[in-house]
Amino acid sequence: MNARPKKSFGQHFLHEKRYIERIVSAVSPRESDFVVEIGPGEGALTLPLLTVARRLTAIELDTDLIPGLQARAASVGELEIVQADVLTVDFSELARQRGVDRLRLVGNLPYYISSPILFHCVEHAAAIRDMHFMLQKEVVDRMAAEPGSKVYGRLSVMLQLACRVEPLFTVPPGAFRPPPQVDSAVVRLQPLPAEQRHDADPERLHAIVKAAFGQRRKTLSNALKQLLDSDAIRAAGIDPKARAETLAPGDFVRLAKLAPEA
Ligand code: SAM
Repeated sequence: MNARPKKSFGQHFLHEKRYIERIVSAVSPRESDFVVEIGPGEGALTLPLLTVARRLTAIELDTDLIPGLQARAASVGELEIVQADVLTVDFSELARQRGVDRLRLVGNLPYYISSPILFHCVEHAAAIRDMHFMLQKEVVDRMAAEPGSKVYGRLSVMLQLACRVEPLFTVPPGAFRPPPQVDSAVVRLQPLPAEQRHDADPERLHAIVKAAFGQRRKTLSNALKQLLDSDAIRAAGIDPKARAETLAPGDFVRLAKLAPEA
């Protein structure tokens, strides 16, 4: 316990019991669930989750933390620690290997790579039942933002096209050791059922959304001119003079379907 937290690994260990309890109760794991924790650290969430779920798989990059965590978990339940960068973990393959339908992901995420982790999880959404993540509050606000909001952007569109996004509660800096410089928030993500998932080519969709918000002050016809002409934008039922921030997530799917290969 109480290793010196490493800034380079985004280590901010949660110590306030009431927030730990709120997260565990939001997850409400059952023994039949296959719970995967991203970044267990010293086990602030791991041990209480393990107490309820009885078994858990945790993915941790920092080798220094693993022996201590393993020792603390030994009397609590069956903890499997995978030493890896979470961005290299194929969640769909993990679910297949373990013979489970869908995983439940939990994590107080390392903030320095929170967006890449979210995009990585979206790629494996079909193998995930739900996710409960602690993130910077500002990131959760962007994930849940609606069209017209100042913070509506690429993250909002890509997340909302894949998941139901439900911000749960905020957590102040003092709940962590060391305290981060920003407020944090816990969010629940529930991947959409197959019949509600979009059917656009993912690469084209990424290219369209990135270009549209890359120049958010420009009209769509200007921002997308390398990818789609005004007639194609009109064919998607969208005014080429509109700005990206006014479009609903589904509008980007229609644009992506008209775009040539990315
Ligand atoms: N869950 C613990 C808690 O709540 O106290 C620790 C949370 S801390 C914010 C983030 C954790 O993610 C650290 O344990 C860190 O070592 C780990 N981590 C950082 N980068 C990672 C990566 N790329 N893959 C897996 N784990 C990573």
